[in-house]
Amino acid sequence: MNYSGIKTHDVANGTGVRVSLFVSGCTHHCKDCFNPETWDFNYGNEFTKKQENEIIEALAPSYIKGFSLLGGEPFEPSNQKVLTPFLKRIKETYPDKTVWCYSGYLLDEELLSESRARCEFTDEMLSYIDILVDGEFNRDLKDLNLKFRGSSNQRIIELPETLKTGEIHLSEENMKYLGKARQNG
Ligand code: SF4
Repeated sequence: MNYSGIKTHDVANGTGVRVSLFVSGCTHHCKDCFNPETWDFNYGNEFTKKQENEIIEALAPSYIKGFSLLGGEPFEPSNQKVLTPFLKRIKETYPDKTVWCYSGYLLDEELLSESRARCEFTDEMLSYIDILVDGEFNRDLKDLNLKFRGSSNQRIIELPETLKTGEIHLSEENMKYLGKARQNG
C-alpha cells in the first residue's frame, strides 16, 4: 500500500486534534474529487513499519484525541489488507483513542453487502473503527458549511452502535452545520 501524506496535528477530519493518514488508491472517481492524484494506487510512497511507528508515536500525547484514516479509499481490498492489522495495533496500544475512517463505500449497501470492496478483512477492519464517514463525494450536494464531510449525502456513523443493533446510528456530528446544531434535521 502507498500513502500520500501523514498529518500529526489535524483538526479538520474528526473531533479534537488527530493524527491522519491519507492512503493511495481509489476506484470511485467522484466528479470534482478534491484529490484525484490519489486515485492511483502507486501514488506517493510505500507505507512501511517506519511510518506505522511514526504514527504510533505521534498518537502518544494525551491531547491527541485519535487517528483518522482517509484516501484515496481505505476500503479498497488491497488497502484493507495492510490497514486492518495496523488499526488493530492502534486499538491495542491506545484503547481510549478514537478511530475515524472516511470511505466512499456505503456501509450497509457495500461494506456489509456483496460488493467490490467487501473481502476477508472487511468485518475485522470495521470492528476497529469508531466513526465511519461513508458515501462518495457528490458535487451537486457539496456544502462547504458541513462539518467533517464534503457533501450532504455523506453520513457520519457511530459504527460500534450500528454494528451492534443493525440500524444506522448517526453521530451528533452529522447534525452540525457551521458549528451549530441544525434547526430542522
Ligand atoms: S472517494 Fe474520495 S478520493 Fe475517491 S474519488 Fe471520491 S472524493 Fe476522491
